[in-house]
Amino acid sequence: MLAFCGGACLSGLEALPILVEVDLAPGLPGLQLVGLGDISGREARERVRSALRNSGFRVPQTRVVVSLAPAQLRKEGPSFDLPIGLALLMATGQLDPRWLEGVWAVGELGLDGALRPVRGLLAVARAAQRAGARALIVPEANGREGALVGGLPIWPAASLRQVLEALAGRQAWSPAAAALDSALPVGSPDLATVRGQLHGRRALEIAASGLHHLLLVGPPGCGKTLLARCLPGLLPPLNQHQALELTQIHSVAGLLAEQGGLIRQPPFRSPHHGCSGVALVGGGLIPRPGELSLAHHGVLFLDELAEFRREVLDHLRQPLETGVLHLARARQTVSFPCRLLLVGATNPCPCGWWGDPRRPCRCGERLRRQYWSRLSGPLLDRLDLQVMLPAVAPVELEDLAQHPLEEASAGVALRVQRARQRMVARNPGGLSNGQVEMEALRPHCQLAPKARLLWRKSVDGLALTARSASRVLRVARTIADLDDSERLEAIHLAEALTYRCLDRHQSRPTP
Ligand SMILES: [Zn+2]
Repeated sequence: MLAFCGGACLSGLEALPILVEVDLAPGLPGLQLVGLGDISGREARERVRSALRNSGFRVPQTRVVVSLAPAQLRKEGPSFDLPIGLALLMATGQLDPRWLEGVWAVGELGLDGALRPVRGLLAVARAAQRAGARALIVPEANGREGALVGGLPIWPAASLRQVLEALAGRQAWSPAAAALDSALPVGSPDLATVRGQLHGRRALEIAASGLHHLLLVGPPGCGKTLLARCLPGLLPPLNQHQALELTQIHSVAGLLAEQGGLIRQPPFRSPHHGCSGVALVGGGLIPRPGELSLAHHGVLFLDELAEFRREVLDHLRQPLETGVLHLARARQTVSFPCRLLLVGATNPCPCGWWGDPRRPCRCGERLRRQYWSRLSGPLLDRLDLQVMLPAVAPVELEDLAQHPLEEASAGVALRVQRARQRMVARNPGGLSNGQVEMEALRPHCQLAPKARLLWRKSVDGLALTARSASRVLRVARTIADLDDSERLEAIHLAEALTYRCLDRHQSRPTP
């Protein structure tokens, strides 16, 4: 007796169709699983057997071979429990195979037969829809996520027993709630709450407009983290395609909140400096996305940049350049997108007080040099905007009352959106100025006569490297876009040059 049930297996961000076959053969009773990793296979066997028994079904008393095809696909995890269980029920005559024709099923089974949610369901639902599946049976807790894919009937259930009852028409499927948007996990603070720091605020506006990677240098308490956290509130909202892509990444990483819907706000990710290379960029035997891809279409904030291990930061270079991370494995190569805004923050020296009028720095020249040499090099080179933030003097209470609030995020976001629209209309692929190929941007970097003069002086005077020089041009182009100007004027170029504080001082900031 042979029985089949359709399922799916995650490969990177995508899901691939899997066929679960069950064969009952004469011989000693036992359940043999083929095509599933050793540990996952052993665990699935125990769960499925207990779930069947505790749901009141018969467990076959013969030799049972369960095979997950295609065999060469590496499969891991508990999401195959449900199709295995259903195929077993069909093989033993406890379930009519016609009810499951063209139907896919995924879900982890608890020992009591309860259906538990699985990660990556959005990817599975999209694959099922592409393959023309009639419906997808999912754990109740995954129902809302499945409903994000329009046009595919989602059949959610709380238990194996409910799946059988609903297939037989004796009970209704759990209602799949309409797809709602995920709430912003951590609200982005408003720029109105940032006091002073005019240079920093302006840098945020430019960074958000052109997606220019940003470095914030300043003493403790000057507001580096607050500034960075304001950034997602300045970025344009995600469109439907971007929202689906980002939600799928978070789903595959197992981070989508239960009953969570579409993530529509740009994400803000802030990994600790002790994190591993795999946690930061992604990887593993069965590759999963890391912080880099979780920040796709949003902000990756690396606080205390100098404390990150050099080799961990080195992993960022290639994907930052191309906007996609490729991971080669023996049997497959997977790709995780990572178009994002990188923000690094660091103290100006190990003690943190260099350049602060309130306290002397105790580090000394040699220690400061060492500190900056750890940061400099290829990654620092990719940070278009480098900003020195001054220490903020404590504001007196009556002073606070006198000062009006600073400009709120909404006004800045409007300018950002307009500048971005100019870039989208002009740059190939609709890319921002920070990410488009320099060859494509150069024709739009025509310098006005006065700007040409300033350019010659600064390239010689600051001894800018070719790479730094092109960074300055990119930033100047974004400033001109914010100014709604076709040409690069001297004023745009002059402002762009103020964001290269590290170039000017041989990789050492000077306040
Ligand atoms: Zn110091």
